[in-house]
Formats: sequence, C-alpha cells, structure tokens
Amino acid sequence: MTNENNRKGVIVVVSGFSGTGKGTLMKKLVEEYDNYALSVSATTRQPRPGEENGREYFFISDEEFEKLIEEDGLLEHAGYCGHYYGTPRKYVEDCMNEGKDVILEIEIQGARQIKKQYPDAVLLFVMPPSAEVLEQRLRGRGTETDEVIKGRLRRATEEAEGIEEYDYILINDDLDTCLQDMRSAIESAHLAPCRQKDFIEKIRRDVEQFK
Ligand code: 5GP
Repeated sequence: MTNENNRKGVIVVVSGFSGTGKGTLMKKLVEEYDNYALSVSATTRQPRPGEENGREYFFISDEEFEKLIEEDGLLEHAGYCGHYYGTPRKYVEDCMNEGKDVILEIEIQGARQIKKQYPDAVLLFVMPPSAEVLEQRLRGRGTETDEVIKGRLRRATEEAEGIEEYDYILINDDLDTCLQDMRSAIESAHLAPCRQKDFIEKIRRDVEQFK
C-alpha cells in the first residue's frame, strides 16, 4: 500500500531501440490507466504518415528548436539520426507539481540528462525478444527508406552499450505482458522511501510517544 494522499509524481523515462514497439506500448498504457501523463516531444524530423502535430510530436524547424534551447524551454535534448529531439520543460514540471506520473519516451542521451537532474527518475529500457524481430519490425513498418532503417539499426548497437544505466529492462514480446511489467515497475517506484518522505517523517514523529 502506498500513502495515496501524498503521492508524488514520478518521472518515468522509456527508451529502447527504434522498432521495439515503445509507441504502441505508451499508447496502451495511457488508454488503460488514467493516472499517467505522456510528454509530447519537439522534433525537427518530418512527420510520418498518420502522425499529427501536437499528438505524436511538435514538429518544428531547426531555428525554432534552437530558439527553444536558448530560452531554456527544454528539459533535455539530443541529436538522433540527423534530427533534434527534446522534451518541453513546462508540461513535465506541471505534471510533477500536480502529483502525476509523467512518461518521457526518449533516447539514451536524453535519459542521462534526466537522471542527472532527477536522480529519482525511473529509467526503463524496452527490448525486442531478439535482433531478428527488431529488424523485421522496423522493415515491416514500411514507413522508412532502407537507408533510414540501416541508420536506426546501427544506432541500436550504440544504445545497447548503455542498457545497464537503466533501472529495469522490459521485453516486448507479448504486448500485454510487457504493459503489465511496465506498470509494476512504475508502481514499485512509488514504494521507495525517497517518495514516501512525508509519510516516514509523520510515522517517526508519531512513534516518538512510545519512547
Ligand atoms: P522516432 O523518430 O522513431 O519517433 O524517434 C527516434 C528516437 O528519438 C527514439 O529513440 C525516441 O525515443 C527518441 N526521442 C523522442 N523524443 C525525444 C526527446 O524529446 N528527447 C530525446 N532525447 N529523445 C527523444
């Protein structure tokens, strides 16, 4: 049981190789549970078919992105396969103040910047069941050129180096199982003493009377 009244929002970072189904996983998590807020990133890459400005990303120009950096409007940002990606600061800070868990689906350089600023953040890394499945999923998406796919697979080898920096790995073989694992990881984070400080202090004060 957690101390629900004083529940503090957790920053949850979700990373994983391109093509592991993180997007689908995130969508399902917020559809099934209403206590998670999903941060929408800004990016300079082009929208894929079906993507909408303000829903998957804020699609902006290089100049607009650089202006956001200058104004300190981003909590973190990184370059990925030739484009900028970054997390708008205000939304995440507002969610934290309201006690909501906020999920950032970002790559590893961004994950490191978040961990530095918020050591309590929970870092999750989503893995495919195998390298073959990863390649199949990326190609099966049918939305990217061969060159882009190869770039993303190369990038996966770099990202694989940093997996131990994460708190938990989630294997996305069966979507529902992976979703349950993700929910358990986030809910367990709420049980950590660092997120129950007020409750611990109160209990400490209250047990003083038994001295
Ligand atoms: P995609 O182009 O496939 O949507 O995303 C490419 C990579 O950028 C993914 O690994 C995704 O997690 C990451 N990404 C998306 N938004 C952000 C962000 O705001 N910051 C950082 N650092 N990475 C992001």
